[in-house]
Amino acid sequence: MNLILLGAPGAGKGTQAEKISEEKHIPQISTGNILRAAVKNGTECGLQAKSYMDRGDLVPDEVVIGILKDRIAEEDCRNGYILDGFPRTVPQAEALENMGVQIDKVLEISVDDEIIKTRLSGRRVCESCGASYHVEFNPTKEEGKCDKCGGNVVQRKDDAPETVIERLSTYHKATAPLIDFYKSRGKLSTVVGQENVAGTYKLVLEALEA
Ligand code: AMP
Repeated sequence: MNLILLGAPGAGKGTQAEKISEEKHIPQISTGNILRAAVKNGTECGLQAKSYMDRGDLVPDEVVIGILKDRIAEEDCRNGYILDGFPRTVPQAEALENMGVQIDKVLEISVDDEIIKTRLSGRRVCESCGASYHVEFNPTKEEGKCDKCGGNVVQRKDDAPETVIERLSTYHKATAPLIDFYKSRGKLSTVVGQENVAGTYKLVLEALEA
């Protein structure tokens, strides 16, 4: 099963992808997590990506497409995967098609911009494994420590309010056209993001089974 999770930053793609990944035993592939690890490790790709990420812009298509292509060629992707944060532009979606990737379903998680802005101010992520939390709606058991790997849980630099406005604008301009792209291919299901993780997950499972 190859899935795509589509939605604005903070819509809950990462959190839902983690849950689907645990249940269906297929890896979650987050290009954002891969890029953050590259920045942290100071790789050439990380150096290229950092300035775009810091200002809330998209990293150039050719960089991200290269990363994705290498990742889905890995052994653990044999039985499928969940793409979280890719594709984010029409050329990225076309690149996937040109690689011969068959997508089974695209789940759009729809959340209003105003809710997104409030949510992202409380979002925290694990520096080590990328797991996603929220100070109020999905807190860690021990403050500042990841439930899954014990890593440090921090606020992302690009979750600062000014950068969030930029990222939302980028989403509407560059990524939202993918909704029609996948609708026209008969692949799209839209799930309205709920207040809590479990509520959204119930709708996600229903959409996957439909
Ligand atoms: P995310 O964790 O998915 O919110 O991604 C964080 C940042 O990484 C984004 O704001 C972009 O700068 C960059 N990024 C992640 N995925 C992509 C992508 N598919 N295309 C371009 N830039 C991306």
